[in-house]
Amino acid sequence: MLVGMVHDVLVVEDEEDIAVPLMRTLEREGYDVSRVSGGAEAVAFVLDDAPAVVILDLGLPDMDGIDVCRQMRSGGYLGGIIMVTARAGELDRVVGLDVGADDYLAKPFGLAELLARVRALLRRSGSAPVQDDATVTTSSGLKIDAGARRVHLGEREIALTAKEFDVLAVLASNHDKVVPRETLMNEVWDQNWYGSTKTLDVTIGRLRSKLEAAEAGEKVVAIRGVGFRLETDS
Ligand code: CA
Repeated sequence: MLVGMVHDVLVVEDEEDIAVPLMRTLEREGYDVSRVSGGAEAVAFVLDDAPAVVILDLGLPDMDGIDVCRQMRSGGYLGGIIMVTARAGELDRVVGLDVGADDYLAKPFGLAELLARVRALLRRSGSAPVQDDATVTTSSGLKIDAGARRVHLGEREIALTAKEFDVLAVLASNHDKVVPRETLMNEVWDQNWYGSTKTLDVTIGRLRSKLEAAEAGEKVVAIRGVGFRLETDS
């Protein structure tokens, strides 16, 4: 049972026999669950209501789930997205994470596993990698606020997904030091994560382009075979 805040979850699934037990399970766990069956409807719902987590089936009648995910992110949605697909290839996983999904599950999946993934995505400030309400400000003026889970450069906010934020927060609290890949995997993902470490590279890639696009003055440097370091851009 969830204590405290009720989180809303959107299920995007056209198949009745998958959607119904999934929704029942989520509701029993205390989530406030909504469901849509099509991609266009899902994008509209998410940009309007911003649920905490979206469980997104890739095989939808009207749109490819990859495009649905991309449109949610480009529309500014920052909540958690778990992709679900019957196409279980590694390529799908990478493409999915590349367009902004946080996690990926292959059908058929156990409901207990799905719940674990949802909980993992929702673990925000409580057991987030950076404890308390610590705020880190880098010498370039990038302000990473762990309490609010927001990143600012001066007045401007840099919009990050949950995982991008967590990675940046860990790197920033170890500024100029190399953070090993394993440390990042353990701190940002957790024991419920069964995916490949490719996820880390994809998340780092997205974080890097966002920092670059925002001219944040900070860059993520890859140390081959070891890990990553956040350093001020010279
Ligand atoms: Ca489907």
